[in-house]
Amino acid sequence: MIDLHTHTLFSDGELLPSELVRRAEMTGYEAVALTDHADSSNLDWIVPRLVQVCGDLNAHWKIRAIPGIELTHVPPVLIGPLAKKARALGALLVVVHGETLVEPVPPQTNRMAIEAGADILAHPGLITAEEVVLAREKGVALEISARKGHSLSNGHVARLAETYRADLVLNTDAHSPEDLISRERASQVAWGAGWGADGLERMLRNSRRFLARLS
Ligand SMILES: [Zn+2]
Ligand SMILES: [Zn+2]
Repeated sequence: MIDLHTHTLFSDGELLPSELVRRAEMTGYEAVALTDHADSSNLDWIVPRLVQVCGDLNAHWKIRAIPGIELTHVPPVLIGPLAKKARALGALLVVVHGETLVEPVPPQTNRMAIEAGADILAHPGLITAEEVVLAREKGVALEISARKGHSLSNGHVARLAETYRADLVLNTDAHSPEDLISRERASQVAWGAGWGADGLERMLRNSRRFLARLS
């Protein structure tokens, strides 16, 4: 499993980065990205710490830990500048907290995340066809979420991604140890989103391509 969206106690996750990564490794993961919630108040505090710990863990463990960030509920015009700042601080992955059906995420967040060239637009809710086309053009991956609530629109996202050939990635958005999932469970989530028995494999190809770009 490659999971490019998780949370540690640097935002609202339960675990220290080292424990989250250790538990991911024991769940059978080959790679995990730590992408804590950030806005302009805490971005510069979180990213260097995740860069530090991921470096330490990668030096000693087989699993690949990736320092990232999830820009969350920020005014959409700030997504571009904050994404740039996150990368300058060392984030290797910029996730944007998309317009999920279960939170009042500001309208235009999906569009601005895509225009800003985020790596992943997480749980994009009722994303439009036009935005999906734009995501494909900009190489922004859309997320199929294993997380309760955010997963309500997986079917819609998967259908539009299939139609317009946008990249999908499957992530857990884990906040607790029990949110990490086996490959079998991930396969069920991908299948349940309408992508069939080989859906996970197709999504993992995109996650793997992302990893290859890093090394
Ligand atoms: Zn999110
Ligand atoms: Zn998240």
